[in-house]
Amino acid sequence: MNDYRTPNFSAGPATLPTAVLQKAQQEMLNWQNKGVSVMEISHRSSDYIAVAEQAEQDLRDLMEIPDNYKVLFLQGGATLQFSAIPLNLLQGTADYLDTGAWSSKAFKEAQRYEKLGLGKINLVSSSENNGYTSVSDISTWNLSENADYFHYCANETVHGVQIFDVPNLENDTPIIADMSSCILSQKIDVSKFGMIYAGAQKNIGPAGLVIVIIREDLLGKASEWCPNLLKYQTQAQANSMSNTPATYSWYLSGLVFAWLKEQGGLDAIAKQNHYKAKLLYNTIDNSSLYSNCVDARYRSIMNVPFFLNNDKDLSSAVNQEFLRQADKEGLLFLKGHRMLGGMRASIYNAVEVEWVEKLVEFMQDFEKTKA
Ligand SMILES: *Cc1c(COP(=O)(O)O)cnc(C)c1O
Repeated sequence: MNDYRTPNFSAGPATLPTAVLQKAQQEMLNWQNKGVSVMEISHRSSDYIAVAEQAEQDLRDLMEIPDNYKVLFLQGGATLQFSAIPLNLLQGTADYLDTGAWSSKAFKEAQRYEKLGLGKINLVSSSENNGYTSVSDISTWNLSENADYFHYCANETVHGVQIFDVPNLENDTPIIADMSSCILSQKIDVSKFGMIYAGAQKNIGPAGLVIVIIREDLLGKASEWCPNLLKYQTQAQANSMSNTPATYSWYLSGLVFAWLKEQGGLDAIAKQNHYKAKLLYNTIDNSSLYSNCVDARYRSIMNVPFFLNNDKDLSSAVNQEFLRQADKEGLLFLKGHRMLGGMRASIYNAVEVEWVEKLVEFMQDFEKTKA
């Protein structure tokens, strides 16, 4: 553990690997001995294109992305994809699963395009009525016959609900997953998806960048209302450079991918992620002060919300005291999302095992003072 790096449990923008920041720092003023930084050169230069291509190749290697998928490095975060997806793919009906704050936002944004007349947006199921603590059984979903696509969020960052198995729709409807907060946390079978997208600021790099992994047969279906810059086909043909891309974020993401390879790839990082999550959930479950009410089958290994004595009031004295003391101990950003209250520890790839060990030790000590 680095002495001057403070344990950081931010949900996003989140902590980045120290080694990556150090490399970026070393290269800042004099990148590749050119006397300039990488953000000060043309995105069309061969030197920059080499950086961009290497980042894509490393991501392809890590995720074992099949050749018939394009990998795009776009802007506007994951949120702009909530619009880009219907604008590119909605023609008849699209199915949406609502399992928490983010998939709910995606559904609501898509409904705007239903109003515009692009097609129908169908809600297959919502777990709002159980407070987003579980996911309904697939046999109860109201799936459409011939949907253009099925959209879901693989990890609900706010509610701490993760869907580990790709829904088996038993047809060839393209599955689209928002993986903003779980991409690269463990291996997945990309070939089961029509499209995967992820905002960078959780497990990849700086905010603003969004990565889209899309099967080639889904290109070229965009509505005439779709802005050119949002068209997947246009961006695929331009190698994500229809306009100036977020060059520095792309470069930094590349450093994170290289770092992940050095860590041993996704199986190695997954083992560590499951260990960190287990430490936290065990601490919560073995305590009479802390609780997490997510169905055990869907507990996220990336975002762990928890409450003190079921007290969801953010302003309550015990919550405030917990946060104040955690801060004093150098355990940062444990305050829960304003929608839910309580606490949340985000434990992405770059969150060190020692940080989580320090957190659970603090939680146990804090509980003793309340006994
Ligand atoms: C953070 C997040 C988003 C939004 O990302 P932006 O980059 O802020 O647009 C969308 N979906 C999920 C699951 C997220 O965690």
